[in-house]
Amino acid sequence: MRLSGKRVFVSAAGQGIGRASALACAAEGAEVVATDVNRDTLASLAGENPNITTVQLDVTDAAAVESFAASQVPFDGIFNCVGFVHNGTIRDVTDADWDFSFDLNVRSMFRVTKSLLPGLLERAEATGGASVVNMASMAGSIKGFPNRLLYGTTKAAVIGFTKAMAADFVKQGLRVNAVCPGTVDTPSLRGRIAASPDPVQAEKDFVARQPMGRLATVEDIAPMVVFLLSDESRFVSGQTMLVDGGVTI
Ligand code: NAD
Repeated sequence: MRLSGKRVFVSAAGQGIGRASALACAAEGAEVVATDVNRDTLASLAGENPNITTVQLDVTDAAAVESFAASQVPFDGIFNCVGFVHNGTIRDVTDADWDFSFDLNVRSMFRVTKSLLPGLLERAEATGGASVVNMASMAGSIKGFPNRLLYGTTKAAVIGFTKAMAADFVKQGLRVNAVCPGTVDTPSLRGRIAASPDPVQAEKDFVARQPMGRLATVEDIAPMVVFLLSDESRFVSGQTMLVDGGVTI
């Protein structure tokens, strides 16, 4: 019960790392508000743990985020998990791709965090600590990978956002950290493998770049999110926590 007494917000909670993290937080006693744009996947999460409430939310919709924030009592922790992988080099990126990825991967974090900030600061003052966790990646932002120009650029921006926020609020008890996973077996990764010209080889290539010889599971990543949202990480802020199976050793 490491998150007992805490209210936690999660974006992109319908599937993948967001879903596993919502479940892990609920299992540790948090009251979780799990959000996603996809109603169907959210619906399947709703019955999994009584500590989880689901709310359909498109984090690119500024008005929806504002009205969601106005409808909520303060959160002790938020996990900004949403993100999209654009595949390609600079040659493949259009202005529209750039705008879409920056809006979803970066601006949504700014939008959600800014809207929920008053409540977070209120809880930090009342309890001694509140926590923001932002989803970055090892790819592009920590280590260069081919065909990740736009993705890596957005995730580097997430790290910049994380460090700047951490510096601004460190004296007010609000901690802000980023998680940087290796390659994680999630529905979107399966989609990227299936969409490649040779899916069998594509999966082998993803595994080959993991020194531990396997892809991460979502359960490999969720414990880091729980740690960062819990008081166990009370002396940790502004960090990029790599959970990458040794890729960046
Ligand atoms: P995923 O890509 O399989 O699922 C993404 C979820 O985001 C879906 O449930 C989708 O409905 C939701 N979503 C999409 N647009 C949305 C919007 N506008 N508003 C609200 N929700 C929206 O999940 P994943 O692979 O676990 O990725 C989650 C995060 O982890 C992303 O930020 C991704 O960049 C990051 N990440 C993933 C990996 C990996 O290998 N899978 C590695 C490092 C980092």
